[in-house]
Amino acid sequence: MRIDTHQHFWRYNPEEFDWIDDSMAALRRDFLPHDLEPELAAAGFDGSIAVQARQTLDETRWLLDLAASSPLILGVVGWVDLRSPDVRAQLDEFAGNPKLLGIRHIVQSEPDDRFLLQPDFLRGISLLEEFDLTYDILIYPKHLPVAAEFVQRFPRQRFVLDHLAKPPIKSGNLHPWDFGIRELAKSPNVFCKLSGLMTEADWRNWKPEHIEPYLDVALDRFGPDRLMIGSDWPVCKVAASYSRAMNMIREYFEKHPTDVQDAVLGENAQRLWKLT
Ligand SMILES: [Zn+2]
Repeated sequence: MRIDTHQHFWRYNPEEFDWIDDSMAALRRDFLPHDLEPELAAAGFDGSIAVQARQTLDETRWLLDLAASSPLILGVVGWVDLRSPDVRAQLDEFAGNPKLLGIRHIVQSEPDDRFLLQPDFLRGISLLEEFDLTYDILIYPKHLPVAAEFVQRFPRQRFVLDHLAKPPIKSGNLHPWDFGIRELAKSPNVFCKLSGLMTEADWRNWKPEHIEPYLDVALDRFGPDRLMIGSDWPVCKVAASYSRAMNMIREYFEKHPTDVQDAVLGENAQRLWKLT
C-alpha cells in the first residue's frame, strides 16, 4: 500500500487561516477530498492521512467526518487541547473512532521555545498511549534539543517528527540541524515524515540536489524503517505540484532496494498506525 502520511483539508477563510500570507495566495481557496483524489491517483497513492490545520475540537470532528465519507482518507491526526485540565474528556469524545490515529499541536508557533516540556502539556501527552494515539511533533530546528529530551520522557509513546523539523534547505546549511536530528533519532519511538521539504527550499528554483543531503541525514539517522513519505499538500503547492513533491522523494529512494522503497512509501505507516 502507498500512503501519503501528511496532507491537509480546509474551507478557506482569512480569519482562521491568517498564516496564509500574500506569498501563498494560491492556498486561499477550499481544499477538499475531491481535490485530493485525482492527485493521489495520478501519483499512484492508495490513501492519505489528513492532519489538523486549525487548533479546535471542531477541526478534529470535521476531519473525522470527512474520513467517514472518503475511503481514501485512511486516518486523521487531529487536535485536542493537551494542556487543558479537561483533556481526558476531550480524548474520550473520539475514543471510539478508529480513524483518529494521532494528535498534533502547532508547537512551532508557541512563543516558549521549551513549550514541549511545560508541565500541563506533558500531562496531556502522558494520556495518549492509553488512547493508542501517536503525537506529531511540528517544530523548527531550534526546538530539536528540547524535543529529544521530551521524547525520552515517554519511551512507550509513539512520536512522529513532521517535515524533518523544517531543515534550512534554502541556506544549504546542515549544522546544527543534523546534530539535533541525531539526538532525536536516538529514541527508537520516534518516526519521521519526509514531507514539506520543498517548502523549506527556494520555492521557484529548488532542485532535487538541494534536498537530497537532508534526506541522506534522515536515512542515516532514522534508518529505512522509521521514515514515511508525505506531500504536505496543499501547502506544497507554493513550491511544487502534488506529483512533483511526491516524485522527488520517491526518486531519491529508487537507488535503494525495493523493500526500502516499500517501507518508506507505505509499510512503515501501516505498521506505525496499524492500517489495513
Ligand atoms: Zn502540513
